[in-house]
Parts: sequence; C-alpha cells; structure tokens
Amino acid sequence: MRRQIVAGNWKMNTTPIEGVELIKGVAALKGEVCSSVEFVVAPPFTHLSEVVKATRGTGILVAAQNCATEAKGAYTGEISASMIASLGVEYVILGHSERREYYGETSATLNKKMVQVFANNLIPIYCVGEVLEERESGKYFDVVKAQIEEVVFELTEEQFEKTIIAYEPVWAIGTGKTASADQAQEIHAYIREVLKSKFGVKAENTSILYGGSCNPANAAEIFSKEDVDGGLIGGAALVAENFINIGKGFKK
Ligand code: PEP
Repeated sequence: MRRQIVAGNWKMNTTPIEGVELIKGVAALKGEVCSSVEFVVAPPFTHLSEVVKATRGTGILVAAQNCATEAKGAYTGEISASMIASLGVEYVILGHSERREYYGETSATLNKKMVQVFANNLIPIYCVGEVLEERESGKYFDVVKAQIEEVVFELTEEQFEKTIIAYEPVWAIGTGKTASADQAQEIHAYIREVLKSKFGVKAENTSILYGGSCNPANAAEIFSKEDVDGGLIGGAALVAENFINIGKGFKK
C-alpha cells in the first residue's frame, strides 16, 4: 500500500513567528482531510525546531529542505543531518531543482547527502525533473532516468524502501504552468518502471509525488492518476487553506 503524501516546501519564506502561525493553521484544518493523507512541511532551518514543537500531537511531520554532505566539522554555514535529526525532523528534501541549478548540486553531491540522511535515520524526499528544453526535445525520460540511476540506484534495498521520490518538471515550478495529469502519469509510471528494473516489486510501494504549480484547483485530477501518490507543493503550501485543500484532492 503506497502512502499518500502532501509535502509543503516553504523554501526561503516565513519568519519563525509566521511559520508557527502557518503550521497552527494547517493543524486546525487537517481534520477536514482523510486521515490516510500524510502532511509534511519543510520550513527553513531557522525554525525547524519551533515547527517540530508546534506539530506535536497533530500528525504533521517535518522535513528539512537540505543537509550538508559531511557529518561535522569545519564547513561554515552548513547544517548536518545529525543536527536536523536531533530536532525531531523526519525527512530531508534532496536534489530540489533550485539546489541543482543555483548551488551546483550534482549526483555526486547528492550521493554524499543520501549517506548522511540515512546515517541519521532520516528519510529522503528525492527530487527529479527536466527543464523545458529537455521536455520539448523529448529527452525528459533520459534525464529523469539518469537522475534516478546515479543516486537512487546507489541505495541499498532497505534504504530504497524508505525513500520518497518527487517528480518536479522544472518548467512547472513556480511558473503557474502545471504538467497535465496525463503528462504526470506518463512520467510517474516510467519512473516506477525504472525503479522496478533495479528494485523489483518493492517499487510498487514507493510514493512518487508530483510537484510544479500544484494547487487546490488541479490537485484532484493529478492525484487521481494511478502512479501519482501525492504532491510536493511550493507556493500553495504557504497558505494553510490552500495546502489543506490540496490534501482534499485525494479521492482514491
Ligand atoms: C517546488 O518548488 O517544489 C514546487 C513544486 O513549487 P511550486 O508549487 O511553487 O511550483
């Protein structure tokens, strides 16, 4: 049985006070959504701790947006996976396209981060996705396959079983342009086939989330597709009602 997950990536938005207000708003409305839907929020590092405290007893889980490649030491400005785990955080988003594009994250970087994530009993939400030119030239299958092979195929079976994948077409992130439900299903099914080629039937249980301008108006159609198990939400996760209404998109 695949888990249905709605994860909110707050990116570099909200102060600690605003973040706690936002999570209180989400918690207050969460009862309106089927209890089988798992809500995750990824605040900035500065208020991970406060948000973890504010989620206690609500069933909402917390993710970090990134972690360091190294365990500890002289890496000014970095935050280690063990620091994150010590706060009671469950997940770490890895390989978001903004990290790949603006901070030069490569598969080699992400392999190191995966090691840190699993060494600290955290769970990765691993993002893949193509840019517009790759979509238009039909290269998107190869791009996504390589992003999976180079990182996910390096995991053990046990690590793979815990991993969540997020497919996020870069051309749809923050652009208001969404992949159609059929486009999402096509690539999600392909991702699952790629995962099966390495991990066999275990890939049937992998939650594959869609991300890219997902909102309350389009979530239900996208989530109705067989291989779409939820969403990684950016802008719409910054308003409690919108985030919750996306969760209401699950019908199956
Ligand atoms: C994201 O950055 O993960 C994302 C999906 O953003 P948005 O929903 O704003 O497109």
